[in-house]
Amino acid sequence: MRTPGGRGCGMGDTRARPPLTAHRMGRMTATNRRRVLLAQPRGYCAGVDRAVVTVEKALEQYGAPIYVRKQIVHNTHVVSTLEKRGAIFVEETDEVPEGAIVVFSAHGVSPKVHEEAADRRLKTIDATCPLVTKVHKEAKRFAAEDRDIILIGHTGHEEVEGTSGEAPEHIQIVESPDQVDQVQVRDPDNVSWLSQTTLSVDETNQTVDALRKKFPNLLDPPSDDICYATSNRQDAVKAMAPECELVIVVGSDNSSNSVRLVEVALEAGADAAHLIDNASLMDEAWLEGVSTVGVTSGASVPDILVRDLLDRLAEYGFDDVEGVRTAEERLTFSLPKELRKDLRAETS
Ligand code: SF4
Repeated sequence: MRTPGGRGCGMGDTRARPPLTAHRMGRMTATNRRRVLLAQPRGYCAGVDRAVVTVEKALEQYGAPIYVRKQIVHNTHVVSTLEKRGAIFVEETDEVPEGAIVVFSAHGVSPKVHEEAADRRLKTIDATCPLVTKVHKEAKRFAAEDRDIILIGHTGHEEVEGTSGEAPEHIQIVESPDQVDQVQVRDPDNVSWLSQTTLSVDETNQTVDALRKKFPNLLDPPSDDICYATSNRQDAVKAMAPECELVIVVGSDNSSNSVRLVEVALEAGADAAHLIDNASLMDEAWLEGVSTVGVTSGASVPDILVRDLLDRLAEYGFDDVEGVRTAEERLTFSLPKELRKDLRAETS
């Protein structure tokens, strides 16, 4: 199997392939090629990497169990791997024994959750992604200026709950351009907007356009809230999707940025797009008549899951893998300061 940069992905051509149906054979003869376009960048972002390493280091430093409020990142594989190492995932801090250690997830928490943890004398380690923290700070600043804040995002998503909890009396949530008509504010000249970090860039722009039409003096956030990882992964999918009959996104269905990648693939011209948690969930019927499959993964997905999918695709003859690179990513974040302090004390 040929992979970008000569990286081997497992199965070679010696493995028996499932038989081709007549339909698939006809398509194959026409194109004489089965290939995979592999999006780059894909998978882990800096915020997810930091959050996962935070739980791993906390387990090493303090020993199991380490409690984690909500899924540390929205990926089933990551959560079950950490559970096996001694992490206990809970929905709320009142499930954590008094005085125990709790890690807050990458999606961020509201001030109320910090207060609840303090009331229970929990030792907290905050793995909120710094790019989510940036949005929290913007919310606090706009609220301090007594503005109405429109938060574009998905109701009920943990990140949106955390951000809106910074200034609940100032923030209202808008999910899509269609909801802009219903927005009521105190002063149309004193309105600003923010967004969840993992939305579709294009749909968010449409929502902002609709808001600006309604509130011409709408104040923008100082910089984009949709993070670099979300927009880079969408750009890579936009670049490859027009050449793909099928795009497969590896990711969990509660992962906002992964779900968006499926939507972006379809909008960018893929005939079909599916989200799967792991390679075993790929339906071979999807490959009927397909000559080019695009593969990518959400920002919370470890690359081993993508390699498993490439191995499975190779079993069906899709063993020619070409990278589609649209950006380089080098950003890294340091671990939460509470944890760094204890790690330093240990080594000094
Ligand atoms: Fe941070 Fe963006 Fe990754 Fe979310 S997707 S954890 S905001 S870098």
